[in-house]
Amino acid sequence: MWTTTNLTDAMQSCACCTPALQIGRRGLLGLAGALGASAMLPRFARAASGHYDALLLTCIDPRFPANTIAYMRSRDLIGKYSQVSLAGASIAVVADPFKSWRPAFWENLSASISLHHVPKVIVLNHRECGAAGIAYGADSIATKEAENATHMKVFAEFRAQMKEKHADLQVETGLMALDGTVDMFTA
Ligand SMILES: [Zn+2]
Repeated sequence: MWTTTNLTDAMQSCACCTPALQIGRRGLLGLAGALGASAMLPRFARAASGHYDALLLTCIDPRFPANTIAYMRSRDLIGKYSQVSLAGASIAVVADPFKSWRPAFWENLSASISLHHVPKVIVLNHRECGAAGIAYGADSIATKEAENATHMKVFAEFRAQMKEKHADLQVETGLMALDGTVDMFTA
């Protein structure tokens, strides 16, 4: 929650900064005091690196954040992942109508690899996704079978691009239903 302008609280809210706070918060704050103002902390000093478990790619659909957090909690991943949200999740990365969004995903993934050393990308597409309808037509998600086939095709293309760009990263691809259950789709 970004409900305060206090630097210390803001730093605690940023996952990028957590390791720095864990290993040297007093030192950083002491440095800030020595400089005369905490705002003088160089930005790179606040954006310290750490080791996290995954980058999560989700859609922007408002019906899913609560279930997504519950799912990540069920996997003991709360506080251990970074997140990118784009309409359609992996559809945004592979479908032509959204091609101008692709660099945002790849560049954020690169940033998370550099900052958080994530070894894995977890993709959570979801059922009844409007972006799927825009990209592939209403029939592509008209039935559960059609929806499964559409997302399997998307996941296959996403995995192929991941293999090309980041062959060392693991990839998990799942499809979340409105009740929060997730069907995993392997390669
Ligand atoms: Zn969606």
